[in-house]
Amino acid sequence: MQTEEQPYLSVVVPVYNEEKNIGPLLDRLYPVVAGIGRPFEIIFTDDGSRDASLRILREKARDLAGVKIIEFNGNFGQHMAILAAFELSKGEIVITLDADLQNPPEEIPRLIREVEKGHDVVGTVREKRRDPFFRRLASRAVNITTNRMTGMEMSDYGCMLRAYHRNVVDNINRCRETTTFIPALAQTFAADPAEIRVSHSERAEGESKYSLYRLIRLNFDLMTGFSVVPLQLFALFGVVTAVFSLGFALFLLVRRFVVGAEVEGVFTLFAILFFFLGIVIFGIGLVGEYVGRIYQEVRRRPRYVVRRLYGFEEE
Ligand code: UDP
Ligand code: MG
Repeated sequence: MQTEEQPYLSVVVPVYNEEKNIGPLLDRLYPVVAGIGRPFEIIFTDDGSRDASLRILREKARDLAGVKIIEFNGNFGQHMAILAAFELSKGEIVITLDADLQNPPEEIPRLIREVEKGHDVVGTVREKRRDPFFRRLASRAVNITTNRMTGMEMSDYGCMLRAYHRNVVDNINRCRETTTFIPALAQTFAADPAEIRVSHSERAEGESKYSLYRLIRLNFDLMTGFSVVPLQLFALFGVVTAVFSLGFALFLLVRRFVVGAEVEGVFTLFAILFFFLGIVIFGIGLVGEYVGRIYQEVRRRPRYVVRRLYGFEEE
């Protein structure tokens, strides 16, 4: 079954091992989307799930008109899953949403109203966020530094319940970068973004797909993918350090003539040395982040591999 008309609304959901959540999600999402009364499509990207997610999705897609599935060949990550769905989406308005029911689908009509008012990107801010304390703290730090560095203004980079106008999605589809962070990418194309507050729930079933390591990787993508300020700050720091150490050397020279050479305090020197050594290693790592990114881009490997599509019309 397919809706033949051109969809007005595309809902995009990345799925990675969410077998317990898909049923309850569709039970809530489908009536909301169908209730809007315009042609729609719901695109699930199965990001290489190793549980029953794909089987459940296929069963659902058979019964529910407008549900489509992109099956990935492996795990390419949440943002690639969304990008693949963006490329196949047809809606005038495109909405992204997590599969774990942390974002209430009932908010979708509000998002649509904002887009219809003329905002081309509508973000959401999680009210009373239900995540572990350390995640909330880390998110705050990321939100503040990212805004500072990129000059963007977004209160909550992590919240994936978002609406995009077709123009913004088309522009995102023109980007070929291999690592990305979609809300930040969209923000660079937004002419008139808006934000609304939404409630937030705990993950319904299963565990977060982000380990501490993956979260750190993701945030590095966000920071280095959208700004070269870290590199510039680092260079600036190098200059300041050089000036200070020149001053220090002059001081030692003068001291040598006044009170003689200094031999004690060798360990202080060690401490200072190790401090700068740490900074130098960090700097090399930081440069490495950018070099690695350039390397990834020049290889031009496909960003993701689709194994099969379900429910899309033959082109
Ligand atoms: N996800 C995905 N691929 C991944 C990791 C996550 O498609 O490699 C999906 C996941 O199924 C969920 C969404 O991305 O729908 C957000 O993931 P999660 O809830 O684990 O992140 P958190 O809410 O902890 O930030
Ligand atoms: Mg989640």
